[in-house]
Amino acid sequence: MLRSPMPCRRRFVRSAALLASAAALAVGLSAVAPARAESLTARQAFALEVFKELVETNTVTATGDTARAADAMAARLRAAGFADADVQVFKPAPRKGNLVARLRGTGAKRPMLLLAHLDVVPASREDWSVEPFSFLEKDGYYYGRGTSDDKFMAAAFVANLIRYRQEGYRPDRDIILALETDEEIIDRDALGIQWLIRNHRDLIDAEFAINEGGGVGLRGGKPVRTSVQTSEKVFQSYRLEVRNRGGHSAVPNRDNAIYRLAEALVRLSKFNFPFRLNETTRAYFDRAAALENPQLAADMKSVASGHPDLAALSVSRLSANPVYNAQLRTTCVATMLEGGHAENALPQLARATINCRIMPGEPVDEVQATLVRVVADDQISVTPLNEATLSEPSPLHQEIMGAIETVTAEFWPGIPVIPAMSAGATDGSHLRNAGIPTYGHSGLAGDIDDQRAHGKDERVLVKSFFDGVEYQYRLVKLLAGGG
Ligand SMILES: [Zn+2]
Repeated sequence: MLRSPMPCRRRFVRSAALLASAAALAVGLSAVAPARAESLTARQAFALEVFKELVETNTVTATGDTARAADAMAARLRAAGFADADVQVFKPAPRKGNLVARLRGTGAKRPMLLLAHLDVVPASREDWSVEPFSFLEKDGYYYGRGTSDDKFMAAAFVANLIRYRQEGYRPDRDIILALETDEEIIDRDALGIQWLIRNHRDLIDAEFAINEGGGVGLRGGKPVRTSVQTSEKVFQSYRLEVRNRGGHSAVPNRDNAIYRLAEALVRLSKFNFPFRLNETTRAYFDRAAALENPQLAADMKSVASGHPDLAALSVSRLSANPVYNAQLRTTCVATMLEGGHAENALPQLARATINCRIMPGEPVDEVQATLVRVVADDQISVTPLNEATLSEPSPLHQEIMGAIETVTAEFWPGIPVIPAMSAGATDGSHLRNAGIPTYGHSGLAGDIDDQRAHGKDERVLVKSFFDGVEYQYRLVKLLAGGG
């Protein structure tokens, strides 16, 4: 699941029948009764059937079966007339499956890739108020683990690819679909997109990719903005460690490993990494300003202007908000602590884990050097705990951002399209690092203040589901060109 700087999800409701009418779209987004099974078009009923099948297939990363889900989606594509050679399922391990399918275009342009993950995080029945792995429509929502993360995207892509084929659509470029396993684990040996890049790069090679990420944010049921994740911070942890010869606690000496470490941590807690702006965060502050109160808006605008004198006070005010602070700079924070070995002994060891989220483009070595300088104690070692996966930001290409703005204006008139940098890591980073610029953008509308991905009672609004499928249909078609 993508960890967005602007987590969001609640859905608004509008009659699905409105979708048929462009004129009605322009009328606005007032709440109407939820779409009911009997009022669905055949296409909507089909998309819903695909969604239900995915949600009811238990695909928890470690214990579920993504191969079964991949096979089921492959069967649907083949049944719709896709050639066997254009629908492949790879099973790099038991119960692990990746599907790669291709809708052939004229070849006038390089292919585009649609990526979604099939696996989900665990959900226990005791925590939930409904069955997590049985699809349920209740009070205008669809409930189930994975409904928002990320089976909406997977279902929309499959249903729309089939629709394109049935309509005889011939795009300017091939549209490649990849449904992967193992997105929900942080593991260098994950068998999803990393495995596909390593083993079948030719099959997924594309000019750019659309992945999960930004969606439409609702406040009080009204759409206020949509976001496009184009960049993410780099995850890097370090261990701070002090060793000491120790002794009896009845005769303490001044040199105590725990005190040394504690003092270093206090110094770190007061330190701020320097403010840095990149193309994405500049656009983020510039456009998100429209959603904030006058003071915040002015601060965001002055930060976006990039003028150091103008920005200094604004940066310090914005830094008080953890979400904005994470957009302004690299952060490093203590997350774990251990030390000592007996109640009556001086500690021979004290250790802390520091987790950093590094601005893309900032050298990782520099961060370690900064930590050493801030810790300012040569008795304390600073050691990396993982090898950083660097992530190249995807450029804000006008062709892609422009298409997103065009289709957004039709579905949710007047809301800003805001580029976003995730404070956490997604599988977009693997594609970006492989040279495929990736845009995290779903078209799924949800309440900004009711984020349920990875949590209990995950759900999407019925209305948002159908709007989102239709939105993706239009957006992908615009990006793929032809007709
Ligand atoms: Zn996800």
